[in-house]
Amino acid sequence: MGIFPHIPQASVILAPEALEAYRQDESHLRGPLPLAVVKPHGPEALRELVRRATTEGFALVPRGAGTGKAGGAVPLDRSVIVDLADWPGQIQISKADATLSAPARSLLKEVKGAALAQGLFYPPDPNSWDQCGFGGSLATNAGGPGACKYGMTRNWVLALDALMADGEIHTFGIATVKNNAGPALAQLLVGSEGIFGLILGATVRLLPAPQERLTLLLPVKDWHALLDLPAVLVSAGLLPSAFEFWDPAVLELLRQFGPEEARRMPGEALALLEFDDPGCTSEAFLERVMELLGPQAEELQLATDARQREALWAVRRQTSVVLKERFPKKVSEDIVVPRSQVRQFFEGAEALGLPLVTYGHLGDGNLHVNFLQAGECTVEEMDAHLLALFRLCLQLGGTLSGEHGIGLAKRDAFLQLADPYQIEALRALKRALDPMGIFNPGKVI
Ligand SMILES: Cc1cc2nc3c(=O)[nH]c(=O)nc-3n(C[C@H](O)[C@H](O)[C@H](O)COP(=O)(O)OP(=O)(O)OC[C@H]3O[C@@H](n4cnc5c(N)ncnc54)[C@H](O)[C@@H]3O)c2cc1C
Repeated sequence: MGIFPHIPQASVILAPEALEAYRQDESHLRGPLPLAVVKPHGPEALRELVRRATTEGFALVPRGAGTGKAGGAVPLDRSVIVDLADWPGQIQISKADATLSAPARSLLKEVKGAALAQGLFYPPDPNSWDQCGFGGSLATNAGGPGACKYGMTRNWVLALDALMADGEIHTFGIATVKNNAGPALAQLLVGSEGIFGLILGATVRLLPAPQERLTLLLPVKDWHALLDLPAVLVSAGLLPSAFEFWDPAVLELLRQFGPEEARRMPGEALALLEFDDPGCTSEAFLERVMELLGPQAEELQLATDARQREALWAVRRQTSVVLKERFPKKVSEDIVVPRSQVRQFFEGAEALGLPLVTYGHLGDGNLHVNFLQAGECTVEEMDAHLLALFRLCLQLGGTLSGEHGIGLAKRDAFLQLADPYQIEALRALKRALDPMGIFNPGKVI
């Protein structure tokens, strides 16, 4: 039984066939078999895990639902996966404070659903919201289509509980909107991809749930016409709660190989827009949107009902899956540039001869660029494409990842391209918070 004869207050998985499932996440990466998977259900287990990791020199790799796309939960040598599935706690809502507290093991859909059941709204909406864990969404600072209006997970976190390298659980932040007692350590843990500690739960703030929603389909003949539209709307004071798009190549693949609803999607390229402001379903609001969209609004279509809206979003969520099925060796990235630089991004990519197709979050410049023919390139060619892509984003004021994070998948590029001062600052923080390097070493930095 190796190094795990007994961990108090925990169940331990050691059977190789059961460990197999933990070797990978939703990235293309696959690690060695972990030494064990530990499911703690009390603080004694956490203390013992930290003590053993420190004295016996193994890594603690936090894992939520394993939907991460950056390889953050993939084990490396001598890794123990920590799965919080059995950690106690319930979702609790304070209507008076407009806050929600939940354990990391909750699913994000449960958190969003619990808020909605009380007429409240927790905005973070990664496209994996119906599969991913709340803890994973905190650790990766997840954000989805709604980020163009509501920002990412980080904007909503008030306080969180985390196991740190001293073996104890600490609460960072407080459950109030106002807290100015020094720099916000809770925010440091959000998006830290498990390298500073293990998040056990968090308190997030909520909004009143939007009462109206306008969903529009905007087909266009020339897809370049879409590129400036989010900036046009925002400049005029209209903030969409989503502005997604598919370029002609991706749209055509969806029509051919996607679900039933995709076959009926119009246009040579297509945008899916939503607004959730009070009054957004009025005639006057629609007229204003159409005025701002200008000639592009000619073919504008309204989603007729909730069923059609859901079907459209299902197509959006399945886009990556459909492309992956057709092009199993494709390489996809989730780069981001400022909304105002999207056109320049595409011009730059064309000038560099980058063979990419794109869909994603046009509203906030977070683009899912896909190299469908990656399987036909040499590794060196693909690496050169990726470096050129990342450099272009950095030149335009963007960065390597808008939402999936750095993890293992983008670590080399991050270390190569990010400001060395900032890499060193992150490493200094890592040394200060985790001096023995037990939390997810080899990821991010
Ligand atoms: C189809 C699909 C669509 C997606 N769309 C989006 C999107 O729109 N936006 C987006 O942001 N992401 C998206 N993702 C990526 C992924 O779903 C999110 O990053 C998600 O929040 C990860 O949650 P998880 O529970 O699966 O985490 P995991 O994959 O289990 O872990 C992710 C990382 O967080 C760490 N971690 C997990 N739990 C904890 C914890 N309790 N404490 C400390 N560290 C922890 C892990 O070590 C790892 O580094 C998508 C993924 C898929 C498969």
